[in-house]
Amino acid sequence: MTRLPVSGRIDGPVLLTARWVVGHRDGRHVIYDDGVVVFEGDEIVFVGHDYPGAVAERIDYGNAILSPGFVDLDALSDLDTTVLAFDNQPSWKKGRVWPKSYMDRAYEMYTQEELAFQKRYAFAQLIRNGITTALPIASLFYREWGETDAEFSAAADAAHELGLRVYFGPAYRSGNSYVDENGKIAFFYDEERGFRSLAESLAFAERIEGLASPLVRAMLAPDRLETNTPDLLRRTADAGRDLDIPIRQHCCQSGLEFDRITGAYGMTPLEWMDSLGVLNERMLLPHGEYVAGTRNVDRPGRDLDILKNAGATLVHCPVVSARHGGFMDSFSKFRDMGVRIGLGTDTWPPDFIQNMQIGILLSRVTDGSIESVRAEHYFDAGTLGGADALRRPDLGRLQAGAKADIIVIDMGHDRIGHVIDPIQTLMMSSSGRDVTNVVIDGRFVMVDGRIPGFDAKAEQARAQRQFDGLVARYPERTYGHPPVEEIFSSAYPRLGRKG
Ligand SMILES: [Zn+2]
Repeated sequence: MTRLPVSGRIDGPVLLTARWVVGHRDGRHVIYDDGVVVFEGDEIVFVGHDYPGAVAERIDYGNAILSPGFVDLDALSDLDTTVLAFDNQPSWKKGRVWPKSYMDRAYEMYTQEELAFQKRYAFAQLIRNGITTALPIASLFYREWGETDAEFSAAADAAHELGLRVYFGPAYRSGNSYVDENGKIAFFYDEERGFRSLAESLAFAERIEGLASPLVRAMLAPDRLETNTPDLLRRTADAGRDLDIPIRQHCCQSGLEFDRITGAYGMTPLEWMDSLGVLNERMLLPHGEYVAGTRNVDRPGRDLDILKNAGATLVHCPVVSARHGGFMDSFSKFRDMGVRIGLGTDTWPPDFIQNMQIGILLSRVTDGSIESVRAEHYFDAGTLGGADALRRPDLGRLQAGAKADIIVIDMGHDRIGHVIDPIQTLMMSSSGRDVTNVVIDGRFVMVDGRIPGFDAKAEQARAQRQFDGLVARYPERTYGHPPVEEIFSSAYPRLGRKG
């Protein structure tokens, strides 16, 4: 491809071809062998074979899949700190949950500039992995309180510049967990502060929706269920309805959350949300692990009925769940019940393909069945499931009238091996590194692995420096304040070079 202008946009229809095109017909994905996708401006005008019209540009990607871009409902958007938890547990001893001594003087661990950098850096990584619509998530453990208007204004600029489609807004909360003097997890609440940060997030949402940007849309992000009060949840639900925007609320995520909600309210997290009247089709719920009526919860409850009737979407993040030793029970059971499911990356690497692969494997293990989950079930969740959660029938599918959000997955290189079926092989031997080209809203945002304006090597070096600076300050925020070497383990003894 030679004539691509700096804008990434081509005037007139663009025709793309590849060995396989994942099109959409009669309400489901289909595969066109040696297929064609034609888009003009931001919209797809044709998918299939033998386009009859004239075009301004033709690009053949050869032995590749042309696929709808992935919709990431819990998209990594910071320099991931959960990776530190991989072999360093328990989290209350390892600086993840802060001690009271730190909580009383908690501060922003990154400068405004560093916060802006990590969002832009993460957005580029999402694009590199074929994610074309992202609902960013970042940890509040490293914040003074909630996320801020300023960093999300910078993030909006980054999304526009890089060309990523996003739904987002500053995360807020009524409180936080901390480690008390005896090494026990406790909760602190400041409801008024929660209302103030909700008000800031609403102002941001109204401003963003007022932009009428084709790429950047608003979402409400009341962080974790166990750190929110009933009134914060009700006000959030009301605002979501008034603005008609999605709400993402972490729920059914952890044993800590489950114990906190059942202890305080005598109901499961889902029963509690249902009793508050805050569950509806606008709600996105990561991570769906602690649901009564499944093997993960030793307690009866109405959770399965509530999930079925609420119309909310479970946000399933296979890699981060599996790394923590847990998993949804189960993708296939919820799917068979008609519960809506979308996918998220939530951790590093934000490799959407890897998430689908791990998801299929662990779903089969969880179900004890090789037949319970098929490749297309996860592919559907990663495309159609996410788009439906956002109530966007023009996303997650390649068909005339849909947005031109298209990715190219290289299936021709020698590490892929022999292909049995493009989607089945994708789920066995591909990875996010095979995504070579990305079009979002009709703009080429990544071409031959390169994102204009993003120097991947230099940005990675900067990310490492910024992250190392954060890790160096871990003793301040860790129970008992041990030195860094005691907080984080090494796989093997580290032998430094002497002299
Ligand atoms: Zn999450």
